[in-house]
Amino acid sequence: MKKAELETLREAAGYWTYMETHNEHVESCLICGRPTKPHTQKIIQMSISGFITDVDVELGDDSQGCFPVGKTCYKNYLKAAKEDNQE
Ligand SMILES: [Zn+2]
Repeated sequence: MKKAELETLREAAGYWTYMETHNEHVESCLICGRPTKPHTQKIIQMSISGFITDVDVELGDDSQGCFPVGKTCYKNYLKAAKEDNQE
């Protein structure tokens, strides 16, 4: 399965800096914190142990659920994600 470290992507996208001044958005990108556009957003799955992966990956108890990400952040996720075939 593909997986990428959420924290690494968030730092690259300036998530925490953005969140210091903008935290009012309910529907916002999991990676950069900016509001997502419903017609272009993608959905990814977040694990409790801190990585993100595709929504169709079965994480069982490690899943925190599925969250929207913007188009650009989704592309960054795909770039950062590495196939992990050890399972
Ligand atoms: Zn984003």
